[in-house]
Amino acid sequence: MAESQSTINEEGIIILPDNWAVCPDCLEKVNLGSAGIVNLTIHHRGSKKCKNGEKKRKAKSILRKRMTRRFQYILDFFLILHTQVLSAFFRISNPAVRI
Ligand SMILES: [Zn+2]
Repeated sequence: MAESQSTINEEGIIILPDNWAVCPDCLEKVNLGSAGIVNLTIHHRGSKKCKNGEKKRKAKSILRKRMTRRFQYILDFFLILHTQVLSAFFRISNPAVRI
């Protein structure tokens, strides 16, 4: 078995074993075939498939960001509510406060 490892070329493109590379735009695996890296840089990048993949990836990351923000908001809300309930509870149950 030939020893093959993934490397990163001077353009920052990840080259996988067996003539595959990862497109930096859409993160899709692209077969380099006999043409080599030009198959990715010339033929794949800028193609419809690549642009669609990039768009999908961006939409996903925006959605994830939005979801995280919403979740953080809900979390903050419950944290504030929780602290208020706790402090109210301690005010009632602690006789020292009443005096
Ligand atoms: Zn691509």
